[in-house]
Amino acid sequence: MLRSRAACGQFLSEPEVYGKSFLNQRLEIWLPPSGKVRTLVFAGIHGEEPETSVVLSRSLRALADPLERCAVVVAANPDGLIRGTRGNARGVDLNRNFPTQDWQPDSVTHRWVTEEPSEVLLSTGGSPGSEPETQALVALVAKLDPARVIAMHAPLACMDDPEESSEACWLSEQTQLPVVSGVGYPTPGSFGTWCAERQLPVITYEFPRKSVEQLVLDYFPALTQVLSGSWPFD
Ligand SMILES: [Zn+2]
Repeated sequence: MLRSRAACGQFLSEPEVYGKSFLNQRLEIWLPPSGKVRTLVFAGIHGEEPETSVVLSRSLRALADPLERCAVVVAANPDGLIRGTRGNARGVDLNRNFPTQDWQPDSVTHRWVTEEPSEVLLSTGGSPGSEPETQALVALVAKLDPARVIAMHAPLACMDDPEESSEACWLSEQTQLPVVSGVGYPTPGSFGTWCAERQLPVITYEFPRKSVEQLVLDYFPALTQVLSGSWPFD
């Protein structure tokens, strides 16, 4: 059930705080009242992908009932979001900072826009899991022990799931985004690799390059089903 549009301006409930960013901003999570979580969805770990946070926030605000089995982090990198940077306030790409076996200390690059070569430099952090936002997310996943995680990104237009899980296939059917088993380049220290090392299923949900309004039109319906637990897997 969805709320009337008039009510969608505000959240139904208050979030809990699972940590603080480097700039001391709250790291917030919306939890089911029971505290029992099957699916964790997070957005905004790359601050240059604010569309993921807006669409996830709208999907959460549209729910008429409290969360039942899903937990939601709208902004995993709030410092990056307020500064409009991919990395956190220390210039670290958080999605290369997770304490994985393949974490590496060299700078990583990303594309300014899709048409350009990957040449914009960011740090991977001083050590694996060096950043407060990374540490908080690691501790959160350990505490919640979800059955799966959906990590939202843009703009690669796919459902990246090496296991090609039923959940990824369902999301793919709903969104017409293809299931892929990798983004085509190495991602050492990524959240996905960190989950894989723990046998924790993770779907990296990559929005296509579209306006926020178009993303809402195209992807809000399936996302509200995930959040409300009315998809087939919770
Ligand atoms: Zn991203």
